[in-house]
Amino acid sequence: MFVGIDLGTTNSLVAVWQDGKPRLVPNALGEVLTPSVVSVDKDGSFLVGAAARDRLQSHPQLSAAVFKRDMGTARSFRLGQHTMRAEELSALVLRALKADVEADLGQPVQEVVITVPAYFSDAQRQATRAAGTLAGFASVTLLNEPTAAALAYGLHQDEGRFLVFDLGGGTFDVSVLELFEGVMEVRATAGDNRLGGEDVDELMVRRFVQDTGMSDDVAHQPLMAARLLRAAEGTKRALAAQETVVMRVDVDGASFSKTWTSQELEKALEPLLERMRQPVERALRDSRIRPQELDAVVLAGGSTRLVAVRQLVTRMFGRFPEVSLDPDQVVALGAAVQAALRGRDAALAERVMTDVCPYTLGVNVNKRLDGDRSQSGFMAPVLERNTIIPASRVERFSPMSTDQRELQIEIFQGEARRVQDNIRLGELNLQLPKGGCEGVVADVRFTLDANGLLEVEATLLRHGAPLGPATQLVIESSSERLSPEEIQKRLARLQALKLHPRDRLEVRALIARAERHHAQLLGMWRSVVADAILRFEVALESQDDRQIAPPRKQLEELLARIESETFLPGLE
Ligand code: AMP
Repeated sequence: MFVGIDLGTTNSLVAVWQDGKPRLVPNALGEVLTPSVVSVDKDGSFLVGAAARDRLQSHPQLSAAVFKRDMGTARSFRLGQHTMRAEELSALVLRALKADVEADLGQPVQEVVITVPAYFSDAQRQATRAAGTLAGFASVTLLNEPTAAALAYGLHQDEGRFLVFDLGGGTFDVSVLELFEGVMEVRATAGDNRLGGEDVDELMVRRFVQDTGMSDDVAHQPLMAARLLRAAEGTKRALAAQETVVMRVDVDGASFSKTWTSQELEKALEPLLERMRQPVERALRDSRIRPQELDAVVLAGGSTRLVAVRQLVTRMFGRFPEVSLDPDQVVALGAAVQAALRGRDAALAERVMTDVCPYTLGVNVNKRLDGDRSQSGFMAPVLERNTIIPASRVERFSPMSTDQRELQIEIFQGEARRVQDNIRLGELNLQLPKGGCEGVVADVRFTLDANGLLEVEATLLRHGAPLGPATQLVIESSSERLSPEEIQKRLARLQALKLHPRDRLEVRALIARAERHHAQLLGMWRSVVADAILRFEVALESQDDRQIAPPRKQLEELLARIESETFLPGLE
């Protein structure tokens, strides 16, 4: 059984294909959005989702979020005594979703389609695949998020041209796709993998601090920074439905507040909106499709709920975007469609999918200037951006001189003319024949599989005949990428980590929510919350539902009151 997972920066979702359509699977709390947050509980077990998100504020040193931004880097996160990389944290999120879907289906799930931003680099894709393996999936297929969104929409149509505008928490992707005679082809993709809703939150926090006169020292304390971001995010969401919203944060008895109007937010967002134009224009240019030829503009990603973003899209295309599917869910739904395709569901047997490589891949070459002078450091493309994948292409390279002993092939990704401005992926070193290399060339083959993963192979030839057996080389592993042995080692370590039991998650989520308020409140209200948590915890030990129910209800009512808009600590 294949399942589809949208492994998001902010939230993750899992969907299955059932009875001829995709269906989202709820988590243990009954919700389809699981926050992509991980936290270590006091008993050493790992919490994923809403409870972990609440602990970001009460226990920031034991919690981690937004780690998708660090996929494919060597950065490690500290959670108490654990040091983990982004792929391991993602693996824990995937493991929680796997448990949810297995509980829902009543059977084990081994195969998964995980979505990634189309603009993810090779290293980021490798890391996502490693996360799938670390989560215990036997087979992991990657799918570009915008492609998934188009699949979710394209399901009931035979042909059409779509532009997918996908603005999530941390990444922005634009893809132009064409569905023709049942074949979905990605014509072009472009994007910015450092642009999303979190930039909006950060911008709102900066404005808030400036306008309220809160000192930078206070604003930068980790607990405070997390609270400010949360307040900004809540305000931003509320502004999608209301004209004015008050953003308020209380610090040690003092209250800081700022009234936002949707107009002010729109104005503040202008620089971010401007950054969205360029990828749209590039994707359209690369696809050679004019805006008026598009059949639909599809919105994906939670941040496309922003009024200013919808207005920008409407203005750019002179039409209203497609919003019949929830932008938070559309990618996961599409992943389930692809999962069904992988599992060869009869209803989808006719549909084929093709995808493209989102960036140019090439090697570093010397260029002859005039006479004997030459300069190195130029990018020679082997696979051009927007080549349909899977793809395999060979380019021939020659040594610069006949007495050269070694031919170094450095592999780069990116669109810049000079390699120094592109991303270095690795290198291959070919030993040239000792007695001079007259007539020797190297055929370098780049193969990009359907997951967007690259393999490079080089063969030396003299006068067209292979010099010995074909030399097969793989890109050297970098410190940023986990080697297969390393993945196995980490797999064993991760398997030993316990996830909090699903059936007790609801209780844990309630306590985490209460602890978040406890961390924020002071004085009398802080001790009221502390007492209520303790009464609930003591009752839990009895394992008797009749004893647990009253303190649970009290705690829930207390939290509801604290979370109500009219609650002002210190004034009551
Ligand atoms: P995603 O990565 O697709 O889950 O998108 C998450 C991002 O969407 C976060 O930055 C959220 O703050 C943002 N978001 C969710 N709902 C809304 C809303 N109603 N208005 C504005 N932004 C939202």
